[in-house]
Amino acid sequence: MELASLTIHELHALLVRREITARQLTESVLARIAAVEGRVQAYITLDREGALAQAEAADQRLAAGETNPLCGIPLAIKDVLCTKGLRTTCGSKILENFLPPYDAAVIEKFKAAGAVLVGKASMDEFAMGSSNENCAYTVPRNPWRLDAICGGSSGGSAAAVAADECIAALGSDTGGSIRQPASHCGVVGIKPTYGRVSRYGLLAYASSLDQVGPLTKDVRDAAIMLQAISGHDQRDSTSINAPVPDYTAALVEGVAGMKIGIPKEYFGAGLDPEVEAAVRNAIRQLEAAGAEAVEVSLPHTEYGVAAYYIIAPAEASSNLARYDGVRFGYRDLAADTLHDMFCQSRSQGFGPEVKRRIIIGTYALSSGYYDAYYKKASQVRTLIVEDFTKALAQCDALLSPVAPTPAWRLGEKASDPLAMYLSDALTIPTNLAGLPGISVPCGLSTAGLPIGVQLQAAPFAEEKLLRLAFNLEQRLDLVGKKPALA
Ligand code: GLN
Repeated sequence: MELASLTIHELHALLVRREITARQLTESVLARIAAVEGRVQAYITLDREGALAQAEAADQRLAAGETNPLCGIPLAIKDVLCTKGLRTTCGSKILENFLPPYDAAVIEKFKAAGAVLVGKASMDEFAMGSSNENCAYTVPRNPWRLDAICGGSSGGSAAAVAADECIAALGSDTGGSIRQPASHCGVVGIKPTYGRVSRYGLLAYASSLDQVGPLTKDVRDAAIMLQAISGHDQRDSTSINAPVPDYTAALVEGVAGMKIGIPKEYFGAGLDPEVEAAVRNAIRQLEAAGAEAVEVSLPHTEYGVAAYYIIAPAEASSNLARYDGVRFGYRDLAADTLHDMFCQSRSQGFGPEVKRRIIIGTYALSSGYYDAYYKKASQVRTLIVEDFTKALAQCDALLSPVAPTPAWRLGEKASDPLAMYLSDALTIPTNLAGLPGISVPCGLSTAGLPIGVQLQAAPFAEEKLLRLAFNLEQRLDLVGKKPALA
């Protein structure tokens, strides 16, 4: 068994018993990257030397008795998170040579834990996309079928975990960008409650929706990673000052007596029959484990995509104003005037999808249109929050598909933004309401592509998600099934 194919908790046991070293483990991951990265293309930047140096430092700590579960564990980081002195591109040409002067809060936590940071994973430019095809550098392939998309925008993180090019990864989720690629690549992905994890050092896309979270090989690893990154941070004004529960302790409990709500609107037209069958099987498994399934309604679900594609671009148009060629990032050196320098730097630095969103967002916020678009979308958002509040008063968690279909072929939706946007219909409402959500593998399509099931819960009820997901995982026995990379 290659070390790179194991989970955090399996490797931690080997590391603390000194049966393996962090250096051996990191070398195993780097060897795996050397063998498969040409096919998968999960990374934008690799830091081999840095990783080996961090592994040696971890070995010294482990030898001195360190028991942190992430000490010596090789991780991939979505390139949206600032890493001090290590290139952070956000998938964009405009940040091609950006070396952050500081670490994101979650990176500080990983470094303090003794984790090994292998590299920066590919992503859609500024996290805008659902297929990872909007990247100025690499377009990762789905390890289960190399002609399929791996999902987005944290596609590189999901592909790296699925292909054993790291042990676990971090992504960010604004409208589904952790859960959807996790579902398409057959890994676990959790979007924490808005405010659970610090966004300090996360390059902002839509600040009222963005949240950082893990992608892992199993649910126990997701609990370990969530534990490591959660907690209050004064540098993020939306970070919540509330105690962080023991997430791995939540796994030991069964699900007997838990109520799972099945939102009927999530099983409507456009749902692939194989996805539906796999998700309905997941419901039966949880029922067999003692949970009770009840039908619930989230009546405003169908307006989620429309509201999101006003709110997210509106916030993006404001957040991305800082990329002006002056303080950091790409600058067109040929421009004659200051005005030309702004225009040319942005025209050349941003890709087409980012420009589309800046234009939509600027329009939606402009005087005369603000009430019709941004204000209306915010009102719809409130209705969606109320839907969830009512539904979650009747159950512990909501169970549904993550995405309406398995991964599609590379290029299939690349020239049809609306088709791409609609693929997010079942993940977007979670972000609009600030809820936690998890994607857990629940099957494989006949084409050999993974299918995930989504669980959503009330704010700060991550423990319920992990408990249900863990019990489901135990019954489905999909962990350790590896993609063929063909
Ligand atoms: N696919 C959605 C978008 O393009 C969500 C992206 C995300 O969660 N970062 O905006």
